[in-house]
Amino acid sequence: MPPSRGWPGSWAVAGLLLILVAVPAQAIDRGADGEFSKRDSSHFVLFQDVDIDQTSGLRGSRRFEQDVLETLEGAYQRADRQLGLRPQRDITVIVYDPAVFDAQFSGLFKFPAAGFYGGQIQVRGGERVSSSLIQVLHHEHVHAAFDLDVSGLTLPAWFNEGIAEWFEAGALGRSTLSRAEARRVSEAAAEGRLFSLSELSKPTFGRMGPGSARLAYAESHAFIDYLVDVHGAQKLREWIQAVVRTRDVERSARRTYRAELSILEERFRERWAPGG
Ligand SMILES: [Zn+2]
Repeated sequence: MPPSRGWPGSWAVAGLLLILVAVPAQAIDRGADGEFSKRDSSHFVLFQDVDIDQTSGLRGSRRFEQDVLETLEGAYQRADRQLGLRPQRDITVIVYDPAVFDAQFSGLFKFPAAGFYGGQIQVRGGERVSSSLIQVLHHEHVHAAFDLDVSGLTLPAWFNEGIAEWFEAGALGRSTLSRAEARRVSEAAAEGRLFSLSELSKPTFGRMGPGSARLAYAESHAFIDYLVDVHGAQKLREWIQAVVRTRDVERSARRTYRAELSILEERFRERWAPGG
């Protein structure tokens, strides 16, 4: 069983905080006894700690692996349709024994984590794929897909995380911000402490304190949500495809939305302004 949530969305955010944190290359070799079994699906190669069945007493771990792969294949198809992201190289997924995962990665997390992306999709093993884990897998798939489709380009975190959050919300059929996210953004707007996009342009929010990071994720999601609301989901897909082609987020935004990014940002802030 995955750990309980500390606060709504904590798993996903814990995963998010780690995006681009380098995971030791040898991590894959460190199962409970250094052995991983391998299975694959059309677009993913999954390695699972072979000791999960014996040491953790987790029943149905084969089922768990299959469900993780099925969830990821679903994410792949949806990312292809909605975002135009369809990496041609296999994406590696590593499922750890929960105790091994906690021992190896707990120092990196500010919250209990179900998974994160660091060159490979890393998953804490469990008995079943919960709705939280489904969200995490859809979110991390976006990072993996960007990593492969615009490889070598460091995307601004508001773009990478905003799209991952938007896509994650869609995994469970939610079409907009959660109530907690909306409250976070509107409170910050009322108090004049929304971040500017340029402040959110670092490669990761991982170095922010928890409060700032929560706002950074919510605001990035809100910005993408605003663009989809006003200009439609098809434009988001066109923008992402232009970024994949040109590797230039700002120029692609200008072409797609026929407006400077700074103007889009201004309109977004007006939308969230008190009484706006
Ligand atoms: Zn993320």
